[in-house]
Amino acid sequence: MIPVFVVLNAGSSSLKFQIFDPSDMKPKVIYRGMVEGIGTSPHFLVKDCDGAIVADKTWDDGEAFGHEEALVELVTWMQTSRGEYRLGAVGHRVVHGGRFFDRPVLVDDDAILDDLTTLEALAPLHQPHNLKPIRILRRRMPDIPQVACFDTAFHRSQPLIAQLFAIPKELTESGVLRYGFHGLSYEHISSVLGDYDPVLKAGRVIVAHLGNGASLCALNKGKSIATTMGFSALDGLPMGTRCGALDPGVVFYMLREMNFSAEAAERILYTQSGLLGVSGLSNDMRTLRAHAQKNPDAQRAIDLFAYRITREIGSLIAALGGIDGLVFTAGIGENDAATRAAVIAGLSWAGFELDASANSRNEPRISASSAPSAWIIPTNEELVVAQQMKRVLSAARQAAPAVAG
Ligand code: AMP
Repeated sequence: MIPVFVVLNAGSSSLKFQIFDPSDMKPKVIYRGMVEGIGTSPHFLVKDCDGAIVADKTWDDGEAFGHEEALVELVTWMQTSRGEYRLGAVGHRVVHGGRFFDRPVLVDDDAILDDLTTLEALAPLHQPHNLKPIRILRRRMPDIPQVACFDTAFHRSQPLIAQLFAIPKELTESGVLRYGFHGLSYEHISSVLGDYDPVLKAGRVIVAHLGNGASLCALNKGKSIATTMGFSALDGLPMGTRCGALDPGVVFYMLREMNFSAEAAERILYTQSGLLGVSGLSNDMRTLRAHAQKNPDAQRAIDLFAYRITREIGSLIAALGGIDGLVFTAGIGENDAATRAAVIAGLSWAGFELDASANSRNEPRISASSAPSAWIIPTNEELVVAQQMKRVLSAARQAAPAVAG
């Protein structure tokens, strides 16, 4: 039986997963799927690597079906209907590693889980859900190795100055820092830059991760030196439903003058702002594009998105001291030619020139100028988790031959 890696991305009501065969140098995805509607109307769906549906199941008694039931369903499906595979190890996308988890970690001790739990206060909407499956699997399948991979870790290479807020030292020392997120995505892009152009690998590159969540990262020789997200995943660019950079005075005004509770203000800034809030229509770029001609609010949301991206890129070019390449990735970055065209038009001062026909065909290289160049590179966060798992498990095996996987 082939021991496979299961890569989990757990949210409040969903469990997304990919199953990898790790036997080759580069782990190969064999199945992708999700359980959505956890706690309400659960739906388990698995597709093979060609996109064919291989499992599709729903439950009537949704309220009794939590994350634990979802995990049991996944493991049982894999070990009964896919008899050639056995669960070798589980990798988890964990949003926050704080100051000290600057690399992936084997969760082989409850003390590690306790440390990660203390970070829940820094990412209350994500971290508790990310940690839940780790806890469940440690209890139910204690022999299965588990690796936690962090969205913040890639940014720990930044100089201290890029991680600081201008606030009293005591607050900084208590952990109020710019952590940055989307690190698994940036690590993937960084690792493949050389496949596209050696100049990118050795040079100054800005990566625009533009999906439902959105941020920018400045890479110097492949390492993060600055990013737009800060203490929380609210900062930086406007996103599908998140506000992006906001004068903190707005929050005080909401609390003091508008009598919002902290929870209500948080909900507005996380779930009712960004493209959705400005358009009053949708958080989805495809919907906004479809309505933009007749709906000025949809057009304004799109324009604000491109304007903020362009401004923040200007700031990161200053942090890098120049730019050799710009990379677009994630749902909007990889697919929305009009956003890319608007951003590149706003960067002509930096020497960017769009190759409009390459851009309309979503080709990898979309700049007419050779320097600086602009690219579309697909991201693959799950592959990064699988690669990190391989490294962590192989190091653990060398240290203690008893670790399986
Ligand atoms: P992600 O979070 O990376 O899945 O990205 C989601 C965002 O990508 C949504 O705003 C989608 O509307 C957008 N998106 C996906 N496909 C397309 C497309 N073909 N054209 C424009 N936007 C797209």
